Formats: sequence, structure tokens, C-alpha cells
Amino acid sequence: MTGNPKGTALPRLAPGSTIGMLGAGQLGRMTALAAARLGYKTHVYAPDAAESPAAQVSAAATVADWDDLDALERFARSVDVVTLEWENVPVATAEHLRRFTNLHPGPNVLSVAQDRIAEKSFVNRLGIATAPWRAANGADEVARAVAEIGPRCVLKSTRLGYDGKGQARLEAGSDPAAAWNAIGGGKPGVEGIVEGFVTFACEVSVIVARGADGAMVAYPAVENRHKDGILDVTIAPASSDKVSAATAAETDRIARRIAEALDLVGVLAVEMFVTADGGVLVNEMAPRPHNSGHWTMDACAACQFEQLVRAVCGLPLGSVERVADAEMTNLIGDDVLRWPELLAEPGARLHLYGKAEARPGRKMGHVNRLFPRR
Ligand code: AMP
Repeated sequence: MTGNPKGTALPRLAPGSTIGMLGAGQLGRMTALAAARLGYKTHVYAPDAAESPAAQVSAAATVADWDDLDALERFARSVDVVTLEWENVPVATAEHLRRFTNLHPGPNVLSVAQDRIAEKSFVNRLGIATAPWRAANGADEVARAVAEIGPRCVLKSTRLGYDGKGQARLEAGSDPAAAWNAIGGGKPGVEGIVEGFVTFACEVSVIVARGADGAMVAYPAVENRHKDGILDVTIAPASSDKVSAATAAETDRIARRIAEALDLVGVLAVEMFVTADGGVLVNEMAPRPHNSGHWTMDACAACQFEQLVRAVCGLPLGSVERVADAEMTNLIGDDVLRWPELLAEPGARLHLYGKAEARPGRKMGHVNRLFPRR
């Protein structure tokens, strides 16, 4: 099956249907909760699904490897549609599943989103700006890229980096070989990309949902503040002091353009840098619900997770109307121990992910605080 011809509606799956979810973390959990509220069941599939955040709230879980073709076929035949909460599901897995069921987003989207070079090439081909970048494999190529781009750069592994992992900063005088080693250069399958360092005024993201009929809705640009390479706080919407109305409109246009060009069905988060002069550069994207969209759970008519359910079930997309402004704070590692005081705080909306062990750097939950609309 090749999926849906562009612009046609998916078969509408009625409540009572089962959504297959690849990946079993907190994003799968919150999607399963949104699905349950609308009367859908969720069946998660992941090598680490047992006792996982998503499995705890789902009707079924399959614990199997991404290359277990029989388990994948059984899973695909037992559900009505498949979606995902992790964009690094192998493309071959996605292609196999597609023989038996609808999968959204599809393998074409995954192959772009899994690789920083494919992603930046795709975005640049649409005429959308990124930081200057060069593919670089080996210390010599890192040195050459730095000579071309300028001394302040970031070297990243092209695949499987998240929360600042697989990255090394380069300044004038930095040793390219040390940076290459720091990202695991030389290990099988590790490839590099050197990006010019962007002196940004703020980091923003836009989350867009798109149906198979091409309908789209987008939440406003939000500001993301990171700590130690991990998202700390999201401010929704981004303040107009930092992101003018014109810049916000540009971020919205960019996110919609990328979703359309990918022929995405589902939810896409686009992370961008806003420079002091209001310029917008795309950093990266994720074809799934995103940490910077968690505020929508308490502040919008329909949250990002509900939009994913609606998109893949062939339902009309929900309203992105914002009933309040919001600030989302991640609970990382031991932050989660503050749950009693957060529960006692009037108006704080606590979301915990059911993870047993609060390891440093691990996302354990988040709290949303609402404010009157500015
Ligand atoms: P990423 O994994 O690409 O989202 O990078 C993690 C974080 O590192 C980003 O949210 C930025 O704060 C920072 N960062 C990544 N790339 C750059 C860049 N080219 N210039 C400046 N900061 C960057």
C-alpha cells in the first residue's frame, strides 16, 4: 500500500477503533490519554514497552524489536491505524507496517526527520533558511567546514541526537579532532554535520497539525528556554517583545510550508532560532507531538495529542483556540520530588509520566501554569 493519494481523506475511524503507537514514552502516554478521552484504544509497540509510560495507560502493549517482522505484522493487523511518538523508528520498520495498515506519518517523513543533513537539505530546498552547515566526516572535514563557516560552530551527529546529546561546540582554537571524538566520530554509523553557531535572541517552536485532506491548524509560536541542553521552560505564546507579530507570522508560514511539503498527516513541531533583527532560521523538526506543545493540554480547546488522534483517525482537526496564556516547566530528574508542593499550588497543573526511576536528565513530568491572555 502506498498510503493515501495527496489530498484525499483517510477512512474515518469511529471511536472504539484502536490506534497503534510506535514508541512507548511520555508522548505516547499523553496521546493514549487523549485517544481514550475520545473513546479510542491504544496499542503500543516498542522494544522497551513493558511497564513503560505509554503501556501503563494503553489497552495493549507489544514488546518486540523494530526488526521483528512477524511481531510487526501481527501488531499492524490488530490495529486500525498506526502512528508514532518517536521519529527514529527505522524506515524499514515503517515500510513493513505499511504493507498491512495505514501509517502516519509515513516512511518518507521519517527519512527526512531522522537525519540532520536530509532535514536541512529539505528545508533549504523550500527556500527556508537554516544556519550555514556542511557535512563533515572526520577531523579534517570538521576543520575544513570550520574554515568555511567561521570559528564559532556546533558539530552534531547527523542521527539520534536529542537534548543536546551528540553535540560539541567549537570556538577559535578548538581542536577539531577532540570535537569529532566527543560526538562519537569513528564509531560505526556516526556521521557529522557542522553548523554555524547562531547568536539567537530566542528559540521558538511552532506545532502544526495536518489532516490527510490537507487541512492544517497551528498553535502560536512559543518561546523555549533550555538548561543543560534540555528544554526547561516554554512560554506560550512567545512575548511580543522578543517575537514581533511579523516574525510570529513568518514562523507560522514556515511550519505550515514544511508540513505541506512533507505531505504530513499528523503533528509536526518545527524548532527555530529568532535573531535580534527578527530573522528566522530553522533548527530542526519532529513529526510528532513535542515537549514544547505540552502547554496546549491545559490552555487550548484541543491539545497537540488530540490533534494527532484526530489527524490519523480521519477526523476534523480540533480548535487551537487558546483559552489562557501558559508557562510549561519540565520536571527533570529529581525535580519530580517536588510533586507534593506542586499539587498544593493553586492553579498548577501537574502531569507525571509514571517513570519509576528519576535519573539525572530524565523527563519525569511537567507542570503547566495558566495566566490571563495577554
Ligand atoms: P538541537 O538538538 O539541534 O535542538 O540542539 C539543542 C540546543 O542546542 C538547541 O535548542 C540550541 O539551544 C542549541 N543549538 C543547537 N544548534 C545550535 C546552533 N547552530 N547555534 C546555536 N545554538 C544551537
